Amino acid sequence: MLAVVKEHKGEGFTVMDVPVPKIGPDDVLIKVKAVGICGSDMPIFSGVREVPFPMIPGHEFSGTIEETGSNVKKFKIGDRVTPGLVINCGECIYCRQGYESLCENILETGIHVDGAFAEYVKVPAKTVHVLPDTMTYEQAASIDPIASAYRPVKKANIGSEDTVLVFGPGPIGIYTVQCAKAEGAKKIIIAGVNGDEERLELAKKLGADYAINISEVDMIQAVKDVNDGLLPDIVFEASGHPSSVQMCLDSIKANGKIVFIGIQHQSVDLELAKIVRQEIKVEGSICYTWKDYKECIDLVSFGRVDTDNMVTHKFALKDIGKGIEVMKNREAVKVILYP
Ligand SMILES: [Zn+2]
Ligand SMILES: [Zn+2]
Repeated sequence: MLAVVKEHKGEGFTVMDVPVPKIGPDDVLIKVKAVGICGSDMPIFSGVREVPFPMIPGHEFSGTIEETGSNVKKFKIGDRVTPGLVINCGECIYCRQGYESLCENILETGIHVDGAFAEYVKVPAKTVHVLPDTMTYEQAASIDPIASAYRPVKKANIGSEDTVLVFGPGPIGIYTVQCAKAEGAKKIIIAGVNGDEERLELAKKLGADYAINISEVDMIQAVKDVNDGLLPDIVFEASGHPSSVQMCLDSIKANGKIVFIGIQHQSVDLELAKIVRQEIKVEGSICYTWKDYKECIDLVSFGRVDTDNMVTHKFALKDIGKGIEVMKNREAVKVILYP
């Protein structure tokens, strides 16, 4: 089968022929119908994030069941499905307490074990969800990034009187806007920089009340101008950019809550005294649970979260290089590949 393989350290990948995966008794083999390129795939391709070699990345996907392991009763050949990427052990203390993405023995499809930039992928059946009949493969391949935004939004416990500020109008940021809207936020502000103009417009189309280009205006003043002179109650950091960390602290109201979603690949200075003196709550959020993923399938199938406008580019899997290119130059919001 055709696959995109990360073969060695450093930059690059190889499009090559590899054997179709052999499944174990608890696995299913999925014929991949659509797979998205994630922002977190980019550091894998560039070599910044190390993965076991050789490995096939790709974790935002959907497809049909091609084969089931001997212990698998819940699925049959031909089922339209999407799996979450978290493969958790179910037995460690975190799994027992419901924190599947903190599992001590976690494996993630496309990050620790072979993923879906391929014609076929094997996954444990316990990670798989069946699609509603009306859901497209492209919608289903978008559930992973939605769930990664949905979990932090749920953690923030948004109230109907809360103003929300989101840094970073990438896919996760715009899905955070949509999930915050679905959770009933009073007002949603999205902040981006020069070059984000189209993404900021898209965020407005999909639920943000105001968009701010912080390269052009004073961020604090611009936020206050649209929020009755007040700072927001909840700030989500979805850019992963180091400069954004201090901005989150500068822009949160006393007793407010900051949730960090974007992964900082370097350490960042944090003004702890302000967190103490202003009683600011700080949380992180990583991936999602099986339940978060299921709830996001419902959000999309009930039309509460839009994916169609998020998919800006589509390529054949063998042309993944073109997809990576439009991601790099920030032309794309979401790229979908077809094996
Ligand atoms: Zn992803
Ligand atoms: Zn576990």
